[in-house]
Amino acid sequence: MDALGRPGDHLLRQGSGGRTDSRGARRRDGRNRRRTAAAPRARGRRPRCRHRTGTDLPLRTVEAEARAIDFEARRIETSNGPVAYDRLVVALGAELAPELLPGFAETALDVYTLDGALEAGRALEGFTGGRVAVLVSRLPYKCPAAPYETALLTEALLRRRGLRERSSVDVYTPEPLPMPTAGPELGAAVHGILESRRIGFHPEQTIERVEADTRELVLADDERVPYDLLLGIPPHRAPAVIRESALAGESGFIPVDRTSLATTVEGVYAIGDATSIPIAGGKFLPKAGVFAERQAEQVGRWIAAELRGDTPTGAFDGKGACFLEMGDGIAAYASGDFYAEPAPKVRLRRPGRRWHLGKVAFERYWLWRWFR
Ligand SMILES: Cc1cc2nc3c(=O)[nH]c(=O)nc-3n(C[C@H](O)[C@H](O)[C@H](O)COP(=O)(O)OP(=O)(O)OC[C@H]3O[C@@H](n4cnc5c(N)ncnc54)[C@H](O)[C@@H]3O)c2cc1C
Repeated sequence: MDALGRPGDHLLRQGSGGRTDSRGARRRDGRNRRRTAAAPRARGRRPRCRHRTGTDLPLRTVEAEARAIDFEARRIETSNGPVAYDRLVVALGAELAPELLPGFAETALDVYTLDGALEAGRALEGFTGGRVAVLVSRLPYKCPAAPYETALLTEALLRRRGLRERSSVDVYTPEPLPMPTAGPELGAAVHGILESRRIGFHPEQTIERVEADTRELVLADDERVPYDLLLGIPPHRAPAVIRESALAGESGFIPVDRTSLATTVEGVYAIGDATSIPIAGGKFLPKAGVFAERQAEQVGRWIAAELRGDTPTGAFDGKGACFLEMGDGIAAYASGDFYAEPAPKVRLRRPGRRWHLGKVAFERYWLWRWFR
């Protein structure tokens, strides 16, 4: 039964572990494509689905790998059989692809996985001083604050352990500024924070490979950067099911209308990390949970209105916020309008303990909401 009380699988949110490929897609621009694809299945404890009001939603959940989308027939082939839809919301996220940067998997501590983050913590606790490199492998990646939080937390930890004077912390990234998708003012503010903590910032770097034997980053012009400990953000890509479907844009992610989140395929919407939404300055809306959540709410309202026969109203407005954890029990907080012209207008609040406590409370809320 769907959200409107009708029997069947008319409304399906896709993206809770699985595989999909796309066949015979008819796009709004009239083009057809036929491809196959595969994506890894999600593991772990399944969150509960609970309505904001506390009542259980009248939704049927199909836990399965999506293996194919037939856009013409409006049907998804899954590992649990076919699922028909009238409207489809694709929310398959971005997958980590460490293999796309030679040497990364063998040598970097991948702070974007739980195991990797735990290992990085242990490595830092056992570290006796030296060069720590924080590496952003490729653009785009999710959570634009995370590499800078990694560097700031590392610096604070080394200082606490009395190792700061015999250590260096440096960020290497293809970005021109820290968090450039939040606009130049915020980038300059975060750069200032890095400088005040003597963290090196190396922008516009193209990383060719990581050499495990010699512990060196190899940059585009064969410049070599030695390190003792490498904390890395691996390359990201759209799940294959998206990349190889009619939904994919040039980057492999899904271009959508920036307010309605409609894709180029009739009846299909996309939200979250799977999307590619241009903003001012030739950049793209950051991949962040705060946007995924607000987009989901907007698309839900939009589709419900369409199915009721009402005129859909409202729009996703590109507003969002995030914390910047800095170590020493303090954090900063950035919030603003990512759709602003001629540049995103995002303000960084003065770092302090209250933002750190806010972040802890925010995390606890989500853990409670999903895993209670
Ligand atoms: C270290 C770190 C810190 C972060 N901190 C923040 C933060 O402070 N604030 C913030 O806003 N964001 C943060 N983010 C980003 C945030 O986690 C993501 O932006 C958010 O999870 C995106 O949600 P999503 O639903 O689009 O994708 P996801 O949460 O990735 O969900 C997509 C799901 O689809 C599944 N899937 C993939 N392929 C298939 C298929 N073929 N069939 C079925 N299912 C499939 C995947 O397994 C996954 O379960 C952080 C990310 C990282 C890595």
